[in-house]
Amino acid sequence: MLKSINLSFQYSGSTPIRFPDFTAEQGDQWLILGPSGSGKTTLLHLLGGLLSPTEGNVTLGDFNYATISAARLDKFRGENIGIVFQKAHAVQSLSVMENLLLTQQLGGKSLDKKKIMDLLERLQIAHKANQKPNRLSAGEQQRVAIARAVVNQPRLILADEPTSALDDKNSTEVQNLLKESAEAVKAILLVVTHDNRLTSAFHKQLLLK
Ligand code: ADP
Ligand code: MG
Repeated sequence: MLKSINLSFQYSGSTPIRFPDFTAEQGDQWLILGPSGSGKTTLLHLLGGLLSPTEGNVTLGDFNYATISAARLDKFRGENIGIVFQKAHAVQSLSVMENLLLTQQLGGKSLDKKKIMDLLERLQIAHKANQKPNRLSAGEQQRVAIARAVVNQPRLILADEPTSALDDKNSTEVQNLLKESAEAVKAILLVVTHDNRLTSAFHKQLLLK
């Protein structure tokens, strides 16, 4: 279970952004909606332990982000949280396969090429395994981002505007692949977006003002 209580975050020189309390059970899939500037990315980074809140607290299972060192939180994130960032974060000098092997290594998992190929197969980019990410189309790069987020079978998958740069066909496919990938590992999936094409695909929705 993912739980946030009384969360707020203040960028220096700005008024604090306050977030509604939020609870997600294992396997839940949530869409977090809100206009640009409403704090979606900030909330995602708080829930992923990439930012520390000014006030309040986040727990994932019995793991409390506030009570541990930054180094242990980094390790915990590598093992338990997959993040699809708005901009591609793959290492451009490595192939798709090498990027995923690196993700396994950073997550403390054993290196498993077969598992990676099965995942790339499912995401319809197996034929791109030996390509450098910047040679791929936007839709293919988003599939690589999903592969990196799910390969370690995380408990929590966070996706920041995963479809906003994609055309309708790729948007629908990426949305379905994210949902299926989360289901396959029984992870909590949180997608933040201002892309209204996604609203009908998620029953559970949180609106930021
Ligand atoms: P969203 O993802 O919904 O567009 P963000 O979480 O990126 O919203 O931003 C929320 C608010 O915080 C906005 O007003 C934005 O300008 C501000 N903000 C975001 N990042 C920074 C930063 N690094 N420094 C100062 N203000 C920021
Ligand atoms: Mg954002």
